[in-house]
Amino acid sequence: MTAHARYPHVFSPLDLGFTKLKNRILMGSMHTGLEDVPGWAERQAAYFAERALGGVGMIITGGIGPNIEATGGGAKLSTIEESDQHRIVTDAVHAADPDVKICLQILHAGPLAHTPDCVAPSPVKSRIGPFVPNELDEAGIEKQIADFANCALMARRAGYDGVEIIGSAGYLLSTFLVAKTNLRTDRWGGRYENRMRFPVEVVRRVREAVGPDFILIFRIAAMDMLEGGMSFEEVVALAKAVEAAGATIISTHFTWHESLVPTIATMVPRAAFAKVTGHIRKHVRVPMITSNRINMPQVAEDVLARGDADLISMARPMLADAELVKKAFEGREDEINTCIACNQACLDHTFTGRMTSCLVNPRACRETELIYLPTRAPRQIAVVGAGPAGLAYATVAAGRGHKVTLYDAAPEIGGQFNLAKRIPGKEEFAETLRYYARQIELLGIDLKLNTRADAAMLKAARYDEVIVATGIQPRRPEVEGITHPKAVSYIDAILGRKPVGKTVAIMGAGGIGFDVAELITHSGPSSALDIDLFQKEWGVDFTSHPRGGVTGLVPQVARSDRDVTLMQRKPTGLGRSLGRTTGWTHRLTLQRRGVKMVSGVDYRRIDDAGLHTLVNGEPVLFDVDTVIVCAGQLPLRTLYDELLAAGVPAQLVGGAFEAAELDAKRAINQASELAAAA
Ligand code: FAD
Ligand code: NAP
Ligand code: SF4
Repeated sequence: MTAHARYPHVFSPLDLGFTKLKNRILMGSMHTGLEDVPGWAERQAAYFAERALGGVGMIITGGIGPNIEATGGGAKLSTIEESDQHRIVTDAVHAADPDVKICLQILHAGPLAHTPDCVAPSPVKSRIGPFVPNELDEAGIEKQIADFANCALMARRAGYDGVEIIGSAGYLLSTFLVAKTNLRTDRWGGRYENRMRFPVEVVRRVREAVGPDFILIFRIAAMDMLEGGMSFEEVVALAKAVEAAGATIISTHFTWHESLVPTIATMVPRAAFAKVTGHIRKHVRVPMITSNRINMPQVAEDVLARGDADLISMARPMLADAELVKKAFEGREDEINTCIACNQACLDHTFTGRMTSCLVNPRACRETELIYLPTRAPRQIAVVGAGPAGLAYATVAAGRGHKVTLYDAAPEIGGQFNLAKRIPGKEEFAETLRYYARQIELLGIDLKLNTRADAAMLKAARYDEVIVATGIQPRRPEVEGITHPKAVSYIDAILGRKPVGKTVAIMGAGGIGFDVAELITHSGPSSALDIDLFQKEWGVDFTSHPRGGVTGLVPQVARSDRDVTLMQRKPTGLGRSLGRTTGWTHRLTLQRRGVKMVSGVDYRRIDDAGLHTLVNGEPVLFDVDTVIVCAGQLPLRTLYDELLAAGVPAQLVGGAFEAAELDAKRAINQASELAAAA
């Protein structure tokens, strides 16, 4: 089969001299939690083998430490016994496709390792690290370098095709590079040539250990997003030095974990950082990898065609769809389950110690547990509600061979995702609906839109099974005057069905309250679709590349001409329920737009004067034109109750099952698990 003509750059092989990559897409490194569980080798073997079968050219594993102090008890590779275990992973990948390369990422967390024994060039605690690191002495530095070389050798022994050394993100190597974390005055600190010495020496010794015919990728902080961080000239000098020391490929990474610029969340435009890789690429001869928010084959093709990079790293998109590359190769890109950059099941899980998965693909990292086997007893199934829960159930059940009829009262599929995709920065959510619409066609699901299903209709049709995925109804709090014309539901506000005035109180500060605040304070194009706007809003400059990439200027966020107050009853800070890795970006954006945030609010009455409250016990009148009610949701179970009364057995999924703490991750996961067992 020939590659789809639309992606000539993506599907041109890359000759590395001693070996060849079959295409230009690699699966970037992600710590998933699979590294640390019992049976990790078998589970990772299944996880990576699925991606190898899915067409990717090269895989980089999650970060593995070269010694204990690098990880604080997490996964490491330093012994022959550990190397034997890794062989299970590499064999599975090469058995799936001998042309796919797999490289082990060597990650030394340095001051971010969760151990009081963590080490660094100087005892400088990271803003996000738990411990003050121990300063390395000369012997300690030599030990760390030797451990890197040993780890790479063990990787080679285990059957890996190469290693990636991470020299960014605030981990050990990068802390040598930056003056504020390297206070040394010996040959490992001081002027930049000295600060570069440790990472360059690691590359040199690893190359010496593994020999010439082994892929060695160095991941460089192309823009560390730190004030006082690395200058463009320093980045280029390091790139040249690691090239000379034996790197086969240089991979660009953006940001340290402690930086306050979003680099992969939904509000980051697609391929926003690729240009930075392009600038560095002009100064080195080895191939360069770019990454971040490249989630569809056309985006990858455009970056390669522009000459910004030689290879494209996709990490989260490979969780969302293991077959992304194969689908592009076969011209089936409309079947790709696109990563929507929500971070909800991947990074938010990683940073809270939970196993990684994917909101749009709950099988990610559960390849050996959540299996959609063909059914031996096909049944007629009605699914009522084509929101995320109903869509997931219908497509998994139909994929297994059941005959599915999918009802929705609305004229389009998607349920609340049709509201979510209207929020600036959540444009990607439309991709999930495109994916499901195509799956409905491919799987022959009988889709009945504009059809409100009722118990009599479903009973008469004599389905073997009825799945009730009717979602939620917004909660209407019992506040005096809640029916006053000033009070508007979030649905009416988002859909523009009711006018929203110049002064607004938003009652409820969960995910929807924040999204509504974003929508009504936003003007002009979405910065998620405009790289220049994104740069201004977050104070970064991809063209002139100041130190760290950050301009140090006050971010230019257009203040809203609306006067908006976001409020909640709880006394705690607002936005605590938002995602761990994205919540801060939403809070910061709204604050910069001038949105006021008030907690500890007791709602008393809505009338012509506005919203009467007690704030921390004191009476406060919010003299507003509009009160938008975002006070959570209740399950919508009218149909379910009718079905039970009519003697028709039914199962609840998604918001209809439980509205409290509902999100699309839970809805899709629950529905997929149920359908896998149907
Ligand atoms: P719903 O999406 O509510 O779908 C229910 C469907 O059932 C609807 O299409 C409805 O028309 C249909 N229906 C109801 N009764 C009948 C009937 N009798 N016959 C036929 N059809 C019927 N979640 C996240 O995880 N991340 C986010 O970033 C996020 N952002 C959001 C932003 C906004 C503005 C909103 C409103 C929600 C957001 N959510 C987000 C929440 C997420 O959309 C919901 O958790 C999810 O949609 C719930 O899925 P569901 O299938 O259970 O219900
Ligand atoms: P939510 O996150 O549960 O927030 C509901 C808000 O309403 C809270 O601020 C709550 O805080 C308030 N509230 C609850 N009961 C109330 C009452 N009786 N009177 C007044 N206020 C009340 O729910 P949501 O905002 O409706 O969002 C629904 C789901 O969609 C959420 O679970 C969320 O995860 C998901 N979502 C996620 C995102 C995301 O970016 N990840 C975005 C949008 C939606 P107090 O009780 O303190 O007032
Ligand atoms: Fe992408 Fe969200 Fe899935 Fe993470 S959870 S891989 S960000 S779609």
